[in-house]
Amino acid sequence: MTNILNVENLEKTYKSGEKELKVLDNISFNIQVGETFAIVGPSGSGKTTLLGLCAGLDQSDTGEIELCGTKINTLNEDERALLRNKNVGFIFQDFQLLSTLTALENVTVPLELQGAKNPDIIAKDLLGKVGLADRIDHYPSQLSGGEQQRVALARAFSNNPSILFADEPTGNLDAETSEKVVQLLFDLNKEAGTTLVIVTHDMDLAKMTQRILRLQRGKIMQEQTVG
Ligand code: ADP
Ligand code: MG
Repeated sequence: MTNILNVENLEKTYKSGEKELKVLDNISFNIQVGETFAIVGPSGSGKTTLLGLCAGLDQSDTGEIELCGTKINTLNEDERALLRNKNVGFIFQDFQLLSTLTALENVTVPLELQGAKNPDIIAKDLLGKVGLADRIDHYPSQLSGGEQQRVALARAFSNNPSILFADEPTGNLDAETSEKVVQLLFDLNKEAGTTLVIVTHDMDLAKMTQRILRLQRGKIMQEQTVG
């Protein structure tokens, strides 16, 4: 099996003025193509920071990250953006939809920016799959939290990513809505064969993945295979 993500001896320190805060220390793990993977740990343990580094949104101080066969440490911002556009999908706790765009536009605009063919067809198909076929002209403010996250799901899968990173995807949703969103996430994932990395507080959600990494104060406490 090939790895889609290799993380080796990762370290990250935030500096503010004189103060230094080491938020990730000696992090090494890897994820196989097609695997589903959860990162759990208390608030402030470094989960979001780790996800940002793995996805090439941010840069580490030391250590090495290989994403989709490319060592991303040596890439500049533009090169990392290109790699992300081609290979990576994101889902955030607060959905991060653009409020001035409709549900449909929230999915088509990023595709257009990436120069994709037929953004409208792709977007409508995905919005249909997440059950929003009749809501495509609605703005985020006209949609419930669960519906907004479903739009975000459609957007995340729209570029056919090899790997999808989700940071607390159900953190702002009630239990019932969470369950629906999670089901859709895993269904879309299965259909697309995407590698899935989920940061979550929710152990029930974490246990739906194949492997769980537990962080505490920036260090790996435990790696566990589920089932
Ligand atoms: P988690 O997602 O597990 O809650 P984070 O990765 O968001 O943890 O944060 C880890 C630690 O790093 C926290 O102590 C947080 O306050 C700190 N931190 C996060 N981002 C920054 C930043 N941009 N500048 C300074 N400190 C930060
Ligand atoms: Mg976080």
